[in-house]
Amino acid sequence: MNPCSSNPAISAFIDHLNPSVTFGQAVVSRQETSFEVRHSADAEKDTHQLELLTPRDLRSRISKDAAGRFRPLQSAPDLLSGWKARASSSADLWEILNILYPGGVGDWYANARQSQTTVSYRDFVNRQSGMFRGAAKLQDAEAAQVANACCADQHCIKNRLWDISGNMDHHSIETPRLVCLEPCQILLELARRQFKLGQSPSTTLELPEEEVALVLVALDHLSKVPRGKLRTGDLSMPMNPRRMNLLQERLQAQIPRQTEKAANKIAQWTIVLPYEINTGFSKHCPPASL
Ligand code: SF4
Repeated sequence: MNPCSSNPAISAFIDHLNPSVTFGQAVVSRQETSFEVRHSADAEKDTHQLELLTPRDLRSRISKDAAGRFRPLQSAPDLLSGWKARASSSADLWEILNILYPGGVGDWYANARQSQTTVSYRDFVNRQSGMFRGAAKLQDAEAAQVANACCADQHCIKNRLWDISGNMDHHSIETPRLVCLEPCQILLELARRQFKLGQSPSTTLELPEEEVALVLVALDHLSKVPRGKLRTGDLSMPMNPRRMNLLQERLQAQIPRQTEKAANKIAQWTIVLPYEINTGFSKHCPPASL
């Protein structure tokens, strides 16, 4: 049986290869009798410069980032380059793309063909149980801050198509793209942590606006610098980049708008934060241990 006939998703994907398509950080191109997949950073490289990997070797190669850390999210923008993989059939191509981006082609195709493919934050967290139930107690604005921090381009290259309350119109993407149809486990964990943090004692800071701006710039910088061996999926670490971005979001939300500022002649901003966020360190994890 022709595999394409039983898999309309890969068939539709292949239809877009004229002669190539960028999918996430991968470039897929049509060759004379096969398909080739390589990293988009290697798009212009001579094929002899790239190591040919079997699907099994590819799976192993992409499981870690350049610093040797496990990649908890395949759609993180840290896919290693320097390789190529060949597919002699649509079924082989399907396998390779699912190694790189599990469910990626299927999700794109489902979204392009159907109207009800996304799951909102509310629907997703309402069906959680156990320790993740706290995620359902975040207000919409807080959940949006979590999503903005977690799904920022520097952490994930998927196009997020779900929203918090499920009111967003269907957005069909015709050209193959990595799409996100529902919150992932990392986002759920960040939301759970945020709810828990909100239950802890708060502290109030009064800072000149220039210093608040300085804190925001520092957080932005810290969220982007390489972290050595720190695992990006480990949200228990205070220096986790997603936590930095979430703190940024939360500070930003507490800053008075320019009009309010002018009307009230506010020279200092008062910011309320849970103790752990404020210090940046858990009470059980003093700075000296980092
Ligand atoms: S929820 Fe956000 S971080 Fe998770 S896969 Fe979707 S877009 Fe990426």
